[in-house]
Formats: sequence, structure tokens, C-alpha cells
Amino acid sequence: MEPAHIRMVKSRKLSALAVLFPYMRPYRLRAGGAAVALAVAAALVLLLGQGVRQLIDRGFASGDATHLNQAAIAMAGIVLALGITTGARFYLVTWLGERVAADLRIALFRHVLRQSPGFFETMRTGDVLTRLTNDTSQLQSLVGSAVSQWLRSAILALGALVMLVVTSGKLAALVIAVVPLVVGPLILFGRRERKLSRAAQDRIADLGAYAEETINAITTVQAFTHEPVDRAVFGARVQDSVEAALRRSRVRAWLISAVIVLGFGAITLSLWVGGLEVVHGRMSGGELSAFVFYAVVVASSVAQMSELWGEVQRAAGSADRIAELLREEPAIVVPAVPLALPPVVGGGSSLRFQDVVFRYPSRTNAALEGVSLSVAPGETVALVGPSGAGKTTLFQLLLRFYDPVSGRILLDGVDIAQADPAAVRDRLGVVAQEPVIFGASVLDNIRYGRPGATDTEVRAAARAAAAGFVEDLPDGYDTFLGERGVRLSGGQRQRIAIARAILRNAPVLLLDEATSALDAESEAAVQHALTILARNRTTLVIAHRLATVRRADRIVVLDHGQVVAMGTHDQLVRDGGLYARLAELQFVAA
Ligand code: ADP
Repeated sequence: MEPAHIRMVKSRKLSALAVLFPYMRPYRLRAGGAAVALAVAAALVLLLGQGVRQLIDRGFASGDATHLNQAAIAMAGIVLALGITTGARFYLVTWLGERVAADLRIALFRHVLRQSPGFFETMRTGDVLTRLTNDTSQLQSLVGSAVSQWLRSAILALGALVMLVVTSGKLAALVIAVVPLVVGPLILFGRRERKLSRAAQDRIADLGAYAEETINAITTVQAFTHEPVDRAVFGARVQDSVEAALRRSRVRAWLISAVIVLGFGAITLSLWVGGLEVVHGRMSGGELSAFVFYAVVVASSVAQMSELWGEVQRAAGSADRIAELLREEPAIVVPAVPLALPPVVGGGSSLRFQDVVFRYPSRTNAALEGVSLSVAPGETVALVGPSGAGKTTLFQLLLRFYDPVSGRILLDGVDIAQADPAAVRDRLGVVAQEPVIFGASVLDNIRYGRPGATDTEVRAAARAAAAGFVEDLPDGYDTFLGERGVRLSGGQRQRIAIARAILRNAPVLLLDEATSALDAESEAAVQHALTILARNRTTLVIAHRLATVRRADRIVVLDHGQVVAMGTHDQLVRDGGLYARLAELQFVAA
């Protein structure tokens, strides 16, 4: 079994953007529409220069109002068409960006849900989340704006350049010489500013992270009277962030000055040189105006292309990270033709471990070293053994979170490696040691066991799980639980988990008993609920309680990944082995 090998990718190869193609293909008609709108709008901008020229030469210069009117009407027509095509382009393209990003997010989430637990051991959750949110947003803005703006700028820059040459070859040569002088410094300043701006954002993020950590640990902070240190550290970080912001502002101030001086300077220069041409009768006023117009279009388009390039590269980095996640194949494979599990006849499933050897991907020593164990339908087997003996690992393998290195696990006679993992898990009900309570109502928390269950069924399951305490909660079954809701005690959480398992009604129950002691009343209620739950089911329980081992049909003692003894409580105590010592030390009497 290969551990997941996700790492942070720094590559910015544009070819990474190819990951987007399959997600764009369904929308190629819209993309085509956007391309047409974009090309038409760019052509109209270029035409606008000609409109200006006509307006001035035919209108003003000729002193004829009719010509002026015609030219003005033509201009108005161009402007209207430009407005409409630009609006259409904007809508189509942002639509495309939203849709593609949404499809990608859905695909990524599905993919992540398919991964085996081993994947989440090597990959940090934050890293997965960043790929799901930030990286997809980056691609959204790429598809939804950057690409189209870049194309538009490229068409405009080329088109305007051609129009410059057409209008006046001599002046065009001047502009081509001057544009790099104007745009070059702006690009350099712009890059530096973006870098500093990122640095400033990072400092702010540092601040947030520090504050979050401190606030989350507020009781520790106060108990250790650590506030002066935290104040000092926070103050220093605020100072860092201010300095970073000011460094950025200084560059920005220079950038603004440079834009004004260089931009308007260049316009003044062309007006002056062009003006001389007009004075000498080698050019008309309209031509000069059109010329200045095209020159501005060339300069601003080139500047925008350079600005967008950074965004395209960042998006390439995002695309690479997304592609990498999508390439990750789950370690647990669903067989091409899964074997069907035979129907459960009632009274639970049969379970059988045959010489199971298992090693966690991140470990060299085996967690299970040849475990063989048969559990008859309806039997209750208690697993006991010191911590690290391999009890939880048996559950993990049954749930097919991992596959054994060798040996087989049979559920109702079928090797679970040859069945569909979902079908296997459908036969298993799990009550964890620390049950997860979701930020939802009590009803929905219990319904987690079987999403389709009606309210009546959920309440019945809760009653069977001795969850009578629910009635006393502020809003009864509608009480909101979880981090921002009502906190339940350990015993109450367990009863919610038991109700979930009752509702799920799976033929096999995997129960990991709580190690922590409950108050006597909760303890009695939980034991009662468990007795009900184990009825007519095959039960494997990682036992920490005397009551549980006494009730079990059989006790299996594990040590160092091996079954070292089997029997009833009284037999095992009489034998005086590992079990007898454990029983003395570990069991919580109840
Ligand atoms: P028990 O439940 O009996 O306390 P476990 O089945 O949790 O024991 O652990 C068996 C062995 O496997 C231990 O050595 C433990 O450290 C190791 N182990 C458990 N879970 C993991 C894991 N996710 N990754 C690596 N090693 C693990």
C-alpha cells in the first residue's frame, strides 16, 4: 500500500491548465459565444478610433453640421454595439468561470470522499481544503475574467498597432520606440508592488493565526498569566504588518507618480510631434486624434497583459495542485465485479479473520501478526488487551479502511476484499469511543445512522438507547448540538451514538467502549442501551468494563497483534495470564 504522496507544488507550467479542458468542454458553445463577443468588441474599440477621426476631420474641420451629425450618429452606433458586446462577453465569461469552478469543486469533493483513511494521515486537512476553495477560486477568476481580458488586450494591442502604422508610419515608429520606455517601468513597479502586497497580506494572516491560537487557548493563557508575552508578541507582529503595508504603499506611490508622468508625458510627446505634422500639413487633426487614441490603447493593453500574466501563472500553480489531488487514487479499490454478500438470515452476520497480518503504511512493524478468529452470528465477543495490542486495527480492517498484507477477512462467508466496500460497511454499525456529534439538531444527529429515517423512527431509536435526557434539553429533539450548540456529557454523547446504531440496524455492531468513567446513572443507562443494541446482532466490543466482559459470550485477549487467549471471564481469570492482570488493573466496575 503506497502512502499518499501529495506535496506542495511550486510548478507554474502553463500546461497544467489542461486540467480545465474536460470541465470546459460541456460549455464550448458558450465559450464560443464569448469568443465571438470578445472579438467583435475589440474590433469595435479599434473602429472607435476611426469614428473619432471622422468626427474631427469631417465634422469640425469641414465646418459642415450635416457631416458632424452623420459622424456623431455613426459613433453612437459603435458605442452602443460596443456596450452590448462587452456586456455579453462579461456575462458569458463569468458564467463560464462560475460553472467550471463549481464543477471542479464537486469533482474534487467527490474524489476526496473516496480516499482511504491512509490518505488523510499523510495529507494535511488544511492542504486539501485550500485546494478545494482557494485553488478553485483562482481558476474561477482565470476562466471568469483573466483569460478573456488577456485575449482582449492582445487583440487590441495588435490591432491598435496595425492601425497606428496605417495612420502614420513615421509616428508609429516613434510610438514603438517610446511604448517600452513607458510601459517597462510601470510593469517593473507593478510587479514589485504585487510582491510587497502579498507580503503585507501574509503578515496580516500571521496576525490572525496568532490571535486565533491565543484566543482558542484563552484559559491556558490566563492560567499561566501569559498575557504580557502574548501582548508583546502580538504588538511586534502588528508592527511588522504596518511596516510591510508601508513598504508596499511607498512603491505604490511611486507607481502612481510614474503612471501620471510617463503616461501623460508620452501623450504630450506624441501630441507635440504629431502637432508639428499637422502644422506642416502632413497630417489631419482627425488622424492625429485617432493616432493618440491608438497609442493609448496599445500602451494600456500591453500593461494589462503583463499584469494578467502573473494571474495566469498563479492559476497554473493552482491547476497543478488540483490535478495532483485528482490523480490520487484511493488505496482501497472497488473490485470490477464485486461479489454480492448473501442475505442475512436474522440474528446477525458471521465474521472470520483468517491469518490476518497487517502493517500500517507509515510503520515498519506489524500491527497484526496473524490473527485468526471466528465469530458466529449473534455472538458477542469482547476484545481486551493492553493499549497498542491491535484491537482498533481489527475494526479498521473490518471496515475496509485498509487491506491486510496477507490473510483474509470474511463477512457472511465472503472475502471483504472481493466485495464492494460500501456493501460491507452497510452491514456494520459503529459506536466509537468518542462519538462525533455534528453541529445539527438531536434528531439529525441520530438520523445520521440512517438518513431516510422518519422522525418517529428516530425518536423510537432514541428511547431504545435510553436517551430520555433529550426530553429535558431546551428544545427537546430540536435542540442544536455541537460546537455552537448544547454540549453533551460523555454518557449522553454515547447514548446518541447508540441511538444512531440502533437506527442503522446493521447485523454487525462494532463497539469501542469509552475508557473514561461515567457517573453511575449514565453508566447504568449506557449499559442498558448496549444490551438492547447487542440483541440479535453479532457484536465485537473493545471492552473496558467489567459489566461488558461478563456479558460477552467470549473474551478474546490480544497482545502485540496476536490472539493470546480466549474464554469466559471466569475461565481467563482462573488461568491467571495476561487477562487476569488486565482485569485487575483496567476494568471499570459498573
Ligand atoms: P489498540 O486498539 O489495541 O490500542 P491499535 O490497533 O490502535 O491498538 O494499534 C496497534 C498498533 O498499530 C500500535 O502499535 C499502534 O501504534 C499502531 N497504529 C494504530 N493506528 C495507527 C495508524 N493510523 N498509523 C500507524 N500506526 C498505527
